[in-house]
Amino acid sequence: MARVVVTGGAGFLGSHLCHRLLERGDEVVCLDNLITGSITNIEDLFGNPRFSYVELDVSTFIHVPGDVDAVLHFASPASPIDFERIPIQILKVGSLGTHNALGLAKAKGAKFFLASTSEVYGDPLVHPQSETYWGNVNPIGPRGVYDEAKRFAEAMTMAYHRHHGLDVRIVRIFNTYGPQMRPDDGRAVSNFIVQALQGQDITVFGDGNQTRSFTYVDDEVLGFLALLDSDVVGPVNIGNPNEFTILQLAEIVIDITGSSSKIIHEPLPVDDPMQRKPDITKATELLGWKPEIELREGITKAAAYFERVLRSGD
Ligand code: UDP
Repeated sequence: MARVVVTGGAGFLGSHLCHRLLERGDEVVCLDNLITGSITNIEDLFGNPRFSYVELDVSTFIHVPGDVDAVLHFASPASPIDFERIPIQILKVGSLGTHNALGLAKAKGAKFFLASTSEVYGDPLVHPQSETYWGNVNPIGPRGVYDEAKRFAEAMTMAYHRHHGLDVRIVRIFNTYGPQMRPDDGRAVSNFIVQALQGQDITVFGDGNQTRSFTYVDDEVLGFLALLDSDVVGPVNIGNPNEFTILQLAEIVIDITGSSSKIIHEPLPVDDPMQRKPDITKATELLGWKPEIELREGITKAAAYFERVLRSGD
């Protein structure tokens, strides 16, 4: 049993991680400022004596009393709609927040785990993307606030590793979906399912030929734990390599929900990556991890979740 701090623990990925860690017997200290996270994601954990929650902005300062074995840094808004809405907070949590979380890990002699992203590859010129690819990022574009913050976070993590000998892990997360996603998250998966369930038009940006590789959240979290428990520093891509066009995703969502919604096209956002697919050789060979849940199965589960949320009006 370990005592683990999860920053962003009330967010989509962070809350799944808190649940898994508690299930396996760990103690969890969840930190979140609720800027995009939600108490509803963790409220079932409040009765658990191994769980505690502190409302805190990790970009300001982090203080956690007592021993800590691992700091898992998941705090960050991550949706393209957030890049427009709260760009400065994103830059701050990727830079100052990462620095504070690293400082906490160093002070406690704890392992540090960084939630990085496939966005470090930008609009990739290499396909599929392996961890050796340095990326193609526009630093001054609207996505730059997230991409560059995460690239800085990786650099800072490696500096603590090399300079201070901190035990670190870096995961590069690819598009992940599933229960606990915000219905108004703005992502293709959440938008399309909510639009389909409500009989609204499905908004495909651009011609819909851009691709993504979607990972169901349960697979993703198992990948995190495999990396955390390994001795691999990383970065390691954790994502499902099955690639789909956004148009295919829209058609799958319409088919699974039995919706009568029509597909309409809206302008492609600036710097929207044209293709994305992880090379997961490293995860498979070094961690023995591979995803199990294919898109149709995952979308079916996610649609059931969004249906419940929309019905309850949460
Ligand atoms: N997208 C879309 N309609 C939407 C939301 C997103 O066509 O309502 C597109 C978006 O332009 C991108 C892809 O779907 O090409 C994935 O977008 P998402 O926001 O889910 O993730 P990211 O761009 O960060 O990979």
